[in-house]
Amino acid sequence: AAKEAGRNQMVLFDEELRAKRLQAAQTVERLRDAITRDEFLVFYQPLIRLTDERITGVEALIRWQPPGEKMVPPDRFIGISEDSGLIVPIGAWVLRESCRAVAGWHRRHGTVVSVNVSPRQLREPDFGMMVLDALRTSGLPPQALILEITEGVLVNSGTVTEQAISHLSMLRGHGIKVAIDDFGTGYSSLAYLRDLPIDNVKIDRSFMPAPGAPDPAARTLVKAIIDLAAGLRLGTIAEGVETAEQVALLQELGCERAQGFFYSRPVPEPDAARLILESADAAEQRA
Ligand code: C2E
Ligand code: MG
Ligand code: MG
Ligand code: MG
Repeated sequence: AAKEAGRNQMVLFDEELRAKRLQAAQTVERLRDAITRDEFLVFYQPLIRLTDERITGVEALIRWQPPGEKMVPPDRFIGISEDSGLIVPIGAWVLRESCRAVAGWHRRHGTVVSVNVSPRQLREPDFGMMVLDALRTSGLPPQALILEITEGVLVNSGTVTEQAISHLSMLRGHGIKVAIDDFGTGYSSLAYLRDLPIDNVKIDRSFMPAPGAPDPAARTLVKAIIDLAAGLRLGTIAEGVETAEQVALLQELGCERAQGFFYSRPVPEPDAARLILESADAAEQRA
C-alpha cells in the first residue's frame, strides 16, 4: 500500500510539473504578444529626500494589464521573462517609457528616475547603446537616470561579471548612476561596495525595524549599512518604509532618501505627476 501511495504521489507530481510547464509556456506566448499589444504599464513610486521630505525621484515599476483581466504584478512574470529572454525587449521598453515620462518632470522639477535592470539585459552586447539611445530620444539627461541592479548582477558565485562591469562603467562615464537594489539580501563581500562601479545603496525592506516594539537589532543593522555606505561615499535609499517611526529613525541615522507605502504606493503616471507637482509647490511655499 505504501508503494502504491508513493507511485500515486509520483504520478501526481508528474502531472503537476507538466501543468506548470504548460502554464509557463503559455505565459511566455502571452508575454510575447503583450509587447506588441501594448499591455504593459509603468507605475512610479516616489523617492523622498529625508532632510526636507521632498520628492526628488521616482522608481519605475512595470505592471502587466492583459485586457479584461486583473493587473499582474512583476513577481509573476519577470522571472519567466528572464528565463525566456523576453526581458530584453521588455526591459528596453520600460527604459524608453520611463525616460519619456520623467523627461518633463525633470525639466520642471529636477526629478530623477530609477529603473530596474535584469542580469540578462546586462549580458547583451548593445545594452549600453540601448540606454544612451533611450536618453537621447527622450531628452532626459544621463544625470537624471539611475540603473538598479542586484548584487548578483556584478558578482556571480565569487567572480565579477566583466560584461556587466564594462557596460556600467561606460554608462557612469556619461553621468548615469548605478544603485545596488535589495542590498543586504545577497551574499556579496563588503569589499565589492568599494571595488564595483556603483553610486547608491538601496537598503532592502527586510532591514526596516518592525513597527511597534523597539527593535535594537534592526536599528544596529540599518545604522551599520548607512555608516558603511556613507564612509564609501555612496548614497543611501531605504526601501519599504511604512511608518513614521521608521522615518524618524532613518532621519536620525542620516539616511538620504526613503521609499515606501508611508509616502506613497507605486502609482500610474498622471498620479505621479500630481504628487511631484504638489511636493514642489509645498517646498516653494515653505521657501
Ligand atoms: P524592487 O525593485 O525591490 O521594487 C520595490 C518593490 O517593493 C515594489 O514591488 C514596490 O511596490 C514594493 N514596495 C515599495 N514600498 C513598499 C512598502 O512600503 N512595503 C512593501 N511591503 N512593499 C513595498 P513591485 O512593484 O511588485 O516590484 C517587485 C519587483 O519586481 C521589484 O523589486 C523588481 O525587482 C521587479 N521589477 C519591477 N519592475 C521591473 C522592471 O521594469 N524590470 C525588472 N527587471 N524588474 C522589475
Ligand atoms: Mg528596484
Ligand atoms: Mg528593491
Ligand atoms: Mg527589496
